Amino acid sequence: MSDFLFDLLQQHDADTVYVCQDKASGLKAMIAIHDTTLGPAAGGIRMKRYASEREAMQDAVRLAQAMTYKWAAAGANLGGGKCVVIGDPASQKTEALLRSLGRFIQRLNGLFLAGADVGTTIADMDLLAQECAYIVPRSETSGDSGPATALGVIQGMRACLQARYGSSELQGRSVAVQGIGSVGWSIVEQLQQAGAVVTIADINPQRVKQLAASLQVTVASPEEIMKLPVDIYCPCALGAVINDSSISELRCQIVCGSANNQLAEERHGELLEQRGILYAPDYIVNAGGAVWSVESRAAGGFNSQRARAAVMHIYETTLAVLDLARAEHISTARAAQLLAERRISAARASNSK
Ligand code: NAD
Repeated sequence: MSDFLFDLLQQHDADTVYVCQDKASGLKAMIAIHDTTLGPAAGGIRMKRYASEREAMQDAVRLAQAMTYKWAAAGANLGGGKCVVIGDPASQKTEALLRSLGRFIQRLNGLFLAGADVGTTIADMDLLAQECAYIVPRSETSGDSGPATALGVIQGMRACLQARYGSSELQGRSVAVQGIGSVGWSIVEQLQQAGAVVTIADINPQRVKQLAASLQVTVASPEEIMKLPVDIYCPCALGAVINDSSISELRCQIVCGSANNQLAEERHGELLEQRGILYAPDYIVNAGGAVWSVESRAAGGFNSQRARAAVMHIYETTLAVLDLARAEHISTARAAQLLAERRISAARASNSK
């Protein structure tokens, strides 16, 4: 007998995985609940063409665990969860499939709160919400999370600048932004307003042309962007960009961007430290969109001022992580984990009293 399922759950200390199928719509989905110590599990719905069911389940559990850490570090009373839908979002994401998924999530009765992720959009959330009361972002409330995520990353940058140079001022600082999608584009706009000197790169030449026509930026090739001698390298495209082959090529002072899972492996956090590069842990600085969206669940409904204040708080959270790393002589990546783990342990201890 293969021990894959329980080994996977144990390896990530995860709670449950729900496997959902609906023949009529072709839905094949998995909902991973990692930890609910702090509150109901919340996380995005990712739709992707997975190579195997095993790969999909691994992704769901790994991403749910990351959400546990993200919420805990952000100070939210939420646990970690994630839904993965197996299929090509371009050709297989139908209304029937989304409605069917909405009914599955509804049946969990609030154990899992869902939002958008890779392969799903805010319009999809509106549709799911017709079947389910536990869909967090909607176009008429929090809307697209990209600009809020960008604002959070900017706050993370300011905290890193404060720690490195003794001033959080972005004016005159050089920033290389890799990927100018929903988040990257908004980061470039905000950097420009703050007077930073920005270089961009994207594999989509149309997007680069469009942005370069409307804002004052320098354009670099996708291969060169992370090798530039800048104050801040800002990865906003892919994960695992900090790896064995790239790490020696970095010439930045700070790494701070929105991309998930930027470190290929945990040890790369220590390697950055050894190279004297300050790393802003990804799930600390990219929590803005998530924090913004869950504001719609607060009493009285979505309030944009309160949501913005919650996103701005990423400055303090990032500084707390950097301070902890310095005090404990550990990498910033480890400090972020420690911060989250301490909060969960404290909640566990008080829950068991
Ligand atoms: P997006 O798909 O809108 O944009 C990604 C951009 O990266 C695209 O323009 C794409 O062409 C470009 N790209 C892909 N490969 C590239 C490469 N090798 N070099 C340069 N550019 C490349 O995605 P997004 O919503 O802007 O998110 C960006 C990253 O931030 C993702 O890793 C996402 O998981 C993460 N993130 C996003 C949010 C959010 O609120 N949207 C929240 C948390 C984390």
